[in-house]
Amino acid sequence: MKNVTMNTGNTIPQLGYGTYKIAPEDTVDAVTMALEAGYRHIDTAQMYGNEAEVGEAIAKSGIDRADIFLTTKLNNPNHQPDEARISFRQSLEDLQTDYVDLFLIHWPLPTLFGGDFLTTWLTLEEFYEDGRAKAVGVSNFLPEHLDVLANGSDLVPAVNQIEIHPYFTNEASRAKNAELGIVTQAWSPLGRAAVLDDPTVVEIAERVGATPAQVVLNWHVNRGDVVIPKSVTKSRVESNMDIFDVPLTEEDYERITKLDRGEEGRQGSNPATMERL
Ligand code: NDP
Repeated sequence: MKNVTMNTGNTIPQLGYGTYKIAPEDTVDAVTMALEAGYRHIDTAQMYGNEAEVGEAIAKSGIDRADIFLTTKLNNPNHQPDEARISFRQSLEDLQTDYVDLFLIHWPLPTLFGGDFLTTWLTLEEFYEDGRAKAVGVSNFLPEHLDVLANGSDLVPAVNQIEIHPYFTNEASRAKNAELGIVTQAWSPLGRAAVLDDPTVVEIAERVGATPAQVVLNWHVNRGDVVIPKSVTKSRVESNMDIFDVPLTEEDYERITKLDRGEEGRQGSNPATMERL
């Protein structure tokens, strides 16, 4: 496993296991499968409704807590300070742990809560300072949202988790993260499987003898980003780990990067307008 160093000085495994849309009743089995396959970085969220089951799988695994990198995220209705504090406490309880390795603001919600996500960020700083979050960061923050944090806080987010895949390469956000010393983490790294049938990806995969998912995940890690693919299928969970030695050429990387469709390529919501509570 390769690691990426965050601005806290701690490292984050470059490959993690995503748990969005894994139903609570399936989550213990799915996370157990991922841990058995060797994943040591698990990504969940209050929104996913499966933190308790993630916690149960980790507890049952017998793996040292210190050997697992665990991320969760503040749900959209919980932006105000007291809600953030209460829900963070609940997340720790559900996850059966004293700390998370990373706690993120899930969405900036610039059209809600009077557009005040800075106060939310200042509340997350409390969790970092008291050690219950080893790192704090954001998700779906556009460059202008990061500027608001930079102007109102001395703490730079450790990570910005954003949508990235070959159909939405999200270069402006990646560049802003890099400029500020924020690790870029790619959500929906496989474009929710949409990019796996792309003729260019399939052609490259056939040539190098890898799966389309391995080709796409290798493209991500070659760019230096952290990836958190989700799968509930054992063979995919396993093969998605074997991504660091796929023999792609510079030309392959360029061809994949050129698949970008800009805004049209998004699979998820636009953070500027997303306001689902
Ligand atoms: P992904 O891009 O990881 O794609 C998941 C889909 O791809 C599933 O349908 C899965 O199928 C399929 N798949 C996975 N591996 C393979 C493979 N090797 N071959 C063929 N199909 C494959 O999408 P997600 O949206 O789940 O994103 C990953 C994670 O990112 C989430 O789980 C979540 O943790 C995080 N996320 C964060 C967001 C945020 O706002 N911060 C938003 C969205 C996601 P199957 O499971 O049936 O095998």
